[in-house]
Amino acid sequence: MPLKKATTVNIKAGATDQVNIMRKIDKKITGYSVSAANEDAKNLAALAEPAVTIEQMHEKFARPETLEGSTYKIKTPLSDHALYITINDVILNPGTDHELRRPFEIFINSKNLEHFQWVVALTRVISAVFRKGGDVTFLTEELKAVFDPTGGYFKSGGRFMPSLVAEIGEAIETHMKKIGLIKPEALSDVQMEVLSEKKAEYEVRNNLQPSAEGFPASADLCLKCHTKAVILLDGCKTCLSCGNSKCG
Ligand SMILES: [Zn+2]
Repeated sequence: MPLKKATTVNIKAGATDQVNIMRKIDKKITGYSVSAANEDAKNLAALAEPAVTIEQMHEKFARPETLEGSTYKIKTPLSDHALYITINDVILNPGTDHELRRPFEIFINSKNLEHFQWVVALTRVISAVFRKGGDVTFLTEELKAVFDPTGGYFKSGGRFMPSLVAEIGEAIETHMKKIGLIKPEALSDVQMEVLSEKKAEYEVRNNLQPSAEGFPASADLCLKCHTKAVILLDGCKTCLSCGNSKCG
């Protein structure tokens, strides 16, 4: 069969090439130089790639006519009226490897005029920080650390909120996580190992099929990371996703 013959010849040729490439150098290497052919290839590659200018956020950045954003509703026991927080984003270097979505402006709306003055001040200052450029994620920590001297309040689900300002900070954090500006906290290798051991133990005790991925179907919702990954083991509730644990 002619086809089979041809194939055999090809394999032999390939094997010979391999030998040539892996040639053993017996003598001492006294010097080296990059061959001209390589140099030409590099130059060609440089010509083919146009110089990229990466656009950064700065004060003089002209606001595009339309912006995309999200609105977050905040309902507190402090007021009958909800607070609406709208954050609009700009997309820098769209369609390139350096594409970056950044918050550009914030609006806070409420029927409650009691807070009008400082709410206007806060939105102007936060928007100005957004437009200044650089790392703006620190805003969330600053705002979340504000405590209302008259006492905070409990949100549904039993979570404590120290002030309305902290709640605004949390809405901004949620938004920054959504657009990828704040990366979710990653667990260390040791934590991952402990969680996978707990998962395996839980599966053995409950006669479940061991699984490599995912969480047990019977797991509860975690209030910290909002993942259905909380298992009960030795009287402790542990989230297999974020590691949040509570005993008793
Ligand atoms: Zn969790």
